[in-house]
Amino acid sequence: MHILIIEDDLAIAANLYDFLESRGHSADAAANGVAGLHLAVTQRFDGILLDLGLPGINGMTLCKKLREESHIDTPILMLTARDTLEDKLEGFENGADDYLVKPFALKEVEARLMAMHKRHLGKVANRMLEVDKLSYDPKTLSIRFADNHVKLPPKCIRLLALMMSEPGRVFSRKELESEAWEDVQETSDTLRSHMHVLRRTLTRAGGYDPIETIHGLGYCLIQRAEAQD
Ligand code: CA
Repeated sequence: MHILIIEDDLAIAANLYDFLESRGHSADAAANGVAGLHLAVTQRFDGILLDLGLPGINGMTLCKKLREESHIDTPILMLTARDTLEDKLEGFENGADDYLVKPFALKEVEARLMAMHKRHLGKVANRMLEVDKLSYDPKTLSIRFADNHVKLPPKCIRLLALMMSEPGRVFSRKELESEAWEDVQETSDTLRSHMHVLRRTLTRAGGYDPIETIHGLGYCLIQRAEAQD
């Protein structure tokens, strides 16, 4: 998972950072609310660890801004020294997904991050996706392109569903690989051949290839309206 740590206590932030990296995750850190908000809005994370007492923008306000102004639905785990019921309720009202009171065990932070991530994927996975003439129904796993039914292997479906969740965004090879193969290490040739099958099948069904290779970066699902500009 790719985690954003927003915490002004540098010792706590370093502990979290080192622990998450040692567990095979990647992390970015911000030491104040403004930098944290900027990172959360401009980059994609699987989870956010959010301290409440922060210089600049406090954690509660930051959480509210992310949800209500930026419409970012990344799971948020609030970290705080306060443990009154009112504080917890305020956190949930402002859009936090979970809550941990300091001092916490690092392993519990990871377990909660994983649980939030799983719930979030479940929610995203059940959403009907539509991009131009392309549609994907996660309940039946059926894909239609320009009114034609598209038959694809499961890994290609997962790759396509991920790209359809954010059309126009470039997905790195690493992101696509971890979506389709989860923990299993695969070579980039495997991703390339699945992409090839996916693009060839879509082109046959819809008359054009909606996926673009962004050299050196990854792949992106283009929106037809943008492509014709
Ligand atoms: Ca703090």
